Amino acid sequence: MGIQKSGKGLLIVLSGPSGAGKGTVCSALRRQAPEVVYSVSATTRQPREGEVDGINYFFKSKEEFKRMIEEGELLEWARYVDNYYGTPRRFVEDRLAEGKNVLLEIEVQGARQVKEHFPEGVFIFLLPPSMKELYARIRGRGTESEEVVEDRMTAARKELDQVHQYDYVVVNDEVAKACQRIRSIMMAEQSRRERI
Ligand code: 5GP
Repeated sequence: MGIQKSGKGLLIVLSGPSGAGKGTVCSALRRQAPEVVYSVSATTRQPREGEVDGINYFFKSKEEFKRMIEEGELLEWARYVDNYYGTPRRFVEDRLAEGKNVLLEIEVQGARQVKEHFPEGVFIFLLPPSMKELYARIRGRGTESEEVVEDRMTAARKELDQVHQYDYVVVNDEVAKACQRIRSIMMAEQSRRERI
């Protein structure tokens, strides 16, 4: 008797307040775990310096974003600090059907919607080492105005209240360690789902 893998890949959802270091951790994961597929979100936010359309995000106008919602093209979507963000449905569903592991880096309202459709998903919450550090990171990024920094801190506090929705909490004290913890979670979850 051989070992059979279930056909569907793992859906991994990574959330955490702005400034927890999701972006940095995801970039490191991309290098270390090239077998994981990253979903590129659509957003109405303006690109930050160095961000490329189709790589960091699909940058959309409000009208285009609204059309995507109406046509059912988004798996989930949320409004976050005056902008809209959403996950293109087709890409995620197709990759999962191919047996690939797919990672979504999204905020908590979106994660809740994903959980409704994919209760078998793996929900990971990335925490900053402290609120002080979080504030320093949001400010230190230097790409946002003072008002946006405050709005992001408020959003961060709200997000932290939602930790209980998640299966795992990973503290991002050091990027390499946080990455290793996430990879261990993925490996464990994969083993758990494999059937003989
Ligand atoms: P940022 O503007 O810093 O790139 O992202 C702001 C927040 O939106 C982050 O918490 C990020 O994880 C979240 N986000 C990015 N893409 C999506 C998405 O497709 N859906 C949802 N719900 N949140 C997203």
